[in-house]
Amino acid sequence: MSTGPLLKVEGLRVAYGHIEAVKGIDFELHEGRITTLVGANGAGKSTTLLALSGLVAKAAGRVVLDGQDLTALSPHRIVASGMVQVAEGRATLTTLTVRENLELGAYTRRDGRAQRAEDLERIYTLFPRLKERADGLAGNLSGGEQQMLAIGRALMAKPRVLLLDEPSMGLAPIIVQDIFRTLREINKAGLTIFLVEQNVRQALKIADSAYVIETGRIVLSGSGHELLGNPKVQDAYLGG
Ligand code: ATP
Repeated sequence: MSTGPLLKVEGLRVAYGHIEAVKGIDFELHEGRITTLVGANGAGKSTTLLALSGLVAKAAGRVVLDGQDLTALSPHRIVASGMVQVAEGRATLTTLTVRENLELGAYTRRDGRAQRAEDLERIYTLFPRLKERADGLAGNLSGGEQQMLAIGRALMAKPRVLLLDEPSMGLAPIIVQDIFRTLREINKAGLTIFLVEQNVRQALKIADSAYVIETGRIVLSGSGHELLGNPKVQDAYLGG
């Protein structure tokens, strides 16, 4: 069995015009683990995820998933190769039903209907609320339910790596707990997760590995537990 990283990112740079948002970062994701990238507003977290998903151009660097170079692939080829980002701002399609949203998540898959139906049931088991609301419009869901739907839809693509951009944003603390608990559950079932968060404490609590990004550079890395105990992290992100 290979012990190397599942995903390796080297020298990633992203610029918006002459603003360099990501200034040459390296990081790795290991199979079956939760890795988090934490940092303040504007540090470059979302830009990093958009670059991984092929939604913004990379000025430099390489992205390799299990030996396959994804650097120059289009967004849909990246999804098809197994790296799937949960829709940002839980952008579910509000005029479609919950079930239709979930079915859309499977659009890049080439396997059969039976397999997809089985996965839909797994997602309903994970999120019973989505099953209850399966025939209702996604637009009528609460913020937390929409976040769950966005995660469920990404899972329908059968990812090898799930990317999430601040799933806790704008949600009440109790709902945030719920979302993080579910992420851990999905991870325990074997899925590799890359979580970008401004909610540093929660993210470090569930992460096996963590990186801290400041103004486009990774300044610290370690296990989630190590970084929770790191005085610099405590001062800068955890209120001392
Ligand atoms: P947030 O949590 O606020 O999303 P972030 O860590 O995800 O912060 P990014 O959104 O990646 O940070 O932004 C990194 C830098 O790039 C910031 O200086 C931001 O102003 C800039 N930036 C982001 N998007 C654009 C854009 N479309 N055009 C120009 N500059 C941008």
